[in-house]
Amino acid sequence: MSIPVVTTIELQSLPKLTSGKVRDLYEIDDKTLLFVTTDRISAYDVIMANGVPQKGAILTQLTAHWFKVLKERIPDVKTHFISLTAPPSVSDQDKALIRGRSMHVRRLKVFPIEAIVRGYITGSAWNEYQRTGTVHGISVPAGLQQCSPFPKPLYTPSTKAELGDHDENITPEKAAEIVGHKYAARIEELALKVYTTAAEYAREHGIIIADTKFEFGLDEETDDIVLIDEVLTPDSSRFWPASEYEAGRDQDSFDKQFLRNWLTKEGLKAKDGVEMPQEIAEATSARYKEAFKLLTGKTLEEALAEL
Ligand code: ATP
Ligand code: MG
Repeated sequence: MSIPVVTTIELQSLPKLTSGKVRDLYEIDDKTLLFVTTDRISAYDVIMANGVPQKGAILTQLTAHWFKVLKERIPDVKTHFISLTAPPSVSDQDKALIRGRSMHVRRLKVFPIEAIVRGYITGSAWNEYQRTGTVHGISVPAGLQQCSPFPKPLYTPSTKAELGDHDENITPEKAAEIVGHKYAARIEELALKVYTTAAEYAREHGIIIADTKFEFGLDEETDDIVLIDEVLTPDSSRFWPASEYEAGRDQDSFDKQFLRNWLTKEGLKAKDGVEMPQEIAEATSARYKEAFKLLTGKTLEEALAEL
């Protein structure tokens, strides 16, 4: 039996708060949320008409795995994770709809920036560097090759755009104006620490995390900065197979490269409502699953069987 691809979910037992490009947030109570990841996929900031098989489960289970690894390696890190088990207020019928793709999380005030950390120079950072010798306005050494590592990972925040808008690269100073100077340095330090720890773990498992995006929330009772959202997935990061890595050229990655290449070839980049051919959706799913297996040591099916 093939597993259905789910791009829209309407739960009956919980009120929906918001819908992002990929996730739907439901209210459990005033302190917690049910974070539901669909199989939707976005590329160049637009959502495809059809989904990627099992993507919601892959992202959810991988994020949960990372929260566990991060807790082991950085004992004082705070995350929004509560449980992979849906709370009792979710009906059995709804539980069947969200199996493997839901996470019960703490509901926090979201800092309105994307905390991007880059270990390697690629994508928009490489483009900017070639033009101006800077990355997000930060000076970096001359003579870097495409996809080579920075001397040390760089914190390169961006704005967090509303649905339909594009995120904008900003300097760390501008980010500090947005989140407040009180929190800016702590967010930067935490983002760099989590990236460095995760990159080391991934390297032990055959994957280079070239760059990644974190989101943070504020626990207003304790004034703690908390790691929220999905973390260290092929949606929020560039993953490169370590065995094939070579500086000086573009890398074959575990992320949406198949889809982006196809959109570019067909002239469909950033067009709304595009339907991917089945083979692109399936190739993308297979790549995501390969990254999952390398990082967790389990197949997705094995992880789901443990729930
Ligand atoms: P993209 O990440 O692709 O830019 P998006 O930001 O529109 O898309 P999704 O990832 O689909 O959003 O949905 C997740 C939303 O939930 C984000 O707006 C994120 O800031 C928010 N969020 C994540 N964790 C929490 C949390 N613990 N409390 C409150 N909001 C959260
Ligand atoms: Mg998101």
